[in-house]
Amino acid sequence: MTWWDGSLDLFLGSRCTGCGGAGRALCRRCRALLPTTAAPAWPTPSPPGLALPVATGEYAGLLQALVLAHKEHGRFALAAPLGRLLATSVLALPRRGPLVLVPVPSLPSVVRSRGHDPLLRTTRAAAAVLRGHGVRATVAPLLRVTGRPDDQAGLDAAARAANLAGRFRLRREGPASPVVLCDDVITTGATVREAQRALEAGGVPVTGIALVAATRRRAVPP
Ligand SMILES: [Zn+2]
Repeated sequence: MTWWDGSLDLFLGSRCTGCGGAGRALCRRCRALLPTTAAPAWPTPSPPGLALPVATGEYAGLLQALVLAHKEHGRFALAAPLGRLLATSVLALPRRGPLVLVPVPSLPSVVRSRGHDPLLRTTRAAAAVLRGHGVRATVAPLLRVTGRPDDQAGLDAAARAANLAGRFRLRREGPASPVVLCDDVITTGATVREAQRALEAGGVPVTGIALVAATRRRAVPP
C-alpha cells in the first residue's frame, strides 16, 4: 500500500469496495475474484460496422462496484485493478506492433465536477500493466467531445446513435497505425461506435475496442 492509497482509504473509512471489509480499497480476497480473461462482447443489436469489442465480464456485482466507486466516488486506488482488467481486454484483441490506446473522452464539465478523468486514469494504468508485460503501449487521448449530448438514459439504440452523431472530434492528427479504443462499459455500443467513426474519419484505423465490462441487455418482455 502506498502512503497515498493509505491516506485515501483512511479518508474514506478503509473499506473494501467489493465486500465492505476493513482494509484497502480492494481487499486481497476480492482482488482474487476479478476476471483474468476477456471475451468478445457484442451488444445486441450491434451498431453496424462496430470494431470487435472485448470485455472481461458482465457489468454487475464486483466489476460494477469497482467502476462506480472509481468514477463517481474518486477511489483513485481502484485505477490499478481496473487498469489490469482493461489490459486483459487489450491483450485479447488481435495486435501487431506497438499499441496505442485511445480513451473515449468525457465532457470537460464532467471531468471538472468529478475532479478527475476516471477513464484516462484507467487507460494509463492499463498501458503501465502492458509495458510491465513487455508490450509497447502508449496512451493517446486523441478525441474530444463537441457539444453536449442529451442524457442517454432511457433512449433506445437508434435514439442513442442519433443523439451522439458528431459528438467526438479528433483533437489532433492521429497515427496512421491502428489504435485500440478504450472505454469502461459497453451497453448499446452507440458511444464507442461514434468514437470509432470520429477516429476513422480522421484516418486513424481502429483494431478493436477494449472494455472493462459489458452490460447484459435483457429482452423486454412482450
Ligand atoms: Zn473485499
